[in-house]
Amino acid sequence: MAIVTDVKKVIVIGGGAAGLAAAWTLRRRGIDVALLEAADHAGGRMAGEVVDGCFHVDVGAQIFSTTHLITLRMCRELGVELPDSTARAAVSIYRKGRLHEVNLRNVLSCKVASPKALWQAFKLARMLRRRREDFLADDYARLLDLDTRESLDDYGRTHDAGELLKDLGEILTISLTLSPPERIGALYGVLILWKSLFTGSANRPLAPQRGVGAFARALAGACADDTRLATPVERVVVEDGVTKGVVAKDGFLEADAVICATTAPDALRIIPDLPDAIRHSLGKITYSRCCHVVFGVDGHPLPRRHSIVMFPRIPGYSLAVYCDSTVMAPLSAPPGKGLIHAFGVDDDSDELFALSDDELERRVIAEIRTFAPAMPEETLFRRIYRWKEAVALAPGGTMTEMYELRRQRYPGVRGLFLAGGYMDVPGVNGALSSGINAAGDAERFLTEGGG
Ligand SMILES: Cc1cc2nc3c(=O)[nH]c(=O)nc-3n(C[C@H](O)[C@H](O)[C@H](O)COP(=O)(O)OP(=O)(O)OC[C@H]3O[C@@H](n4cnc5c(N)ncnc54)[C@H](O)[C@@H]3O)c2cc1C
Repeated sequence: MAIVTDVKKVIVIGGGAAGLAAAWTLRRRGIDVALLEAADHAGGRMAGEVVDGCFHVDVGAQIFSTTHLITLRMCRELGVELPDSTARAAVSIYRKGRLHEVNLRNVLSCKVASPKALWQAFKLARMLRRRREDFLADDYARLLDLDTRESLDDYGRTHDAGELLKDLGEILTISLTLSPPERIGALYGVLILWKSLFTGSANRPLAPQRGVGAFARALAGACADDTRLATPVERVVVEDGVTKGVVAKDGFLEADAVICATTAPDALRIIPDLPDAIRHSLGKITYSRCCHVVFGVDGHPLPRRHSIVMFPRIPGYSLAVYCDSTVMAPLSAPPGKGLIHAFGVDDDSDELFALSDDELERRVIAEIRTFAPAMPEETLFRRIYRWKEAVALAPGGTMTEMYELRRQRYPGVRGLFLAGGYMDVPGVNGALSSGINAAGDAERFLTEGGG
């Protein structure tokens, strides 16, 4: 096999949040790095697409949170503004054919959840309150005792929180992970419930003025000199337990260390020499599935107080989340235009995946018009993204396994490091964190003479 190109110290595979964070960290520490991305653009599941020169469409991730400390720090460092209170989104729940804004009045009058669910929320908050610091930390290390084999659904049943899950937990996990509680690990689910229900003003949604894609562009721009787009890696080459480099479309690229920042299934596919124990752990990672449809429209189909609408599972109804991203990201569309995102998830997304784009558009618009009659039947444009691997679901036990993998510095293959949303609390913040951690581990490996 010919060596076709210059030798780089570290090769990062994948230019999503994790890979970009890894590459940027290494570059800033003066380490030679090459980022290889399969697609013709960087950003992965937090990428943005600019439509008609003026609509800034987030193709995947939509929001950050004030609890996402790593994301906030990186936005500051990259000069990406995150407007706070002025752009706060209002959240509504669709229940019994009506939209109910989530506010104190509607909560106290039990319009958003039953009295029993509220009582269970109160009891759960009391039980978890003593762990407030653990929940607010950026690292979940102090919460690993909650990472049993259970799903969030099991956890709800064994902790007298069944009604809370049915009324609020399910709606929250579907909105935030695009998957129902029975598919999510207990620790990940409890983290979501805790941050959504019990942290009050400490957890507020945020987005850059032009959407999450603006952050992806800024980060990708900072790594552009080291990035090769449209360069899928076919295989990581390991000999006698030592990483040698990768095989990409141009041939073999030599490296002293490799950071694989893809999804878990892609890592399994391109690293055939992973030790069995690691393969076994990665094999347990599952993902939500999501059909994401975006429309540019004249005006705003719903008033600002319903800018994010969450739906319980309703038979025959595909929508799980509706949002007008111009409320969170005011410059994502020109003045007077709305940018409508609709998400169908899990089993419903499978049904939607099978439809043609035109059928899908008709179906989603018809559903939106049941609660937002002002939604036009003719839109300015549409975009459709069919995500078969949307958000890692951290099934019971896997957060501990990933934590151990990091703590032991990925034993078994010298010079190989893993990053990606699945290695931390899934989401952009966790993916960034995993990339920064992997970069630190690779740097340590190189400076300790591993390279
Ligand atoms: C619809 C949707 C909504 C979401 N909403 C939110 C949200 O609001 N907030 C939030 O925090 N998170 C959200 N998420 C989750 C978040 O986007 C992801 O957790 C995060 O972006 C994952 O980043 P990553 O770097 O781990 O993976 P990815 O973004 O998937 O990056 C992996 C990259 O590797 C590349 N790649 C794969 N194989 C190869 C190969 N062989 N060679 C080279 N490159 C390769 C891929 O092309 C990709 O660019 C959402 C996700 C989706 C899909």
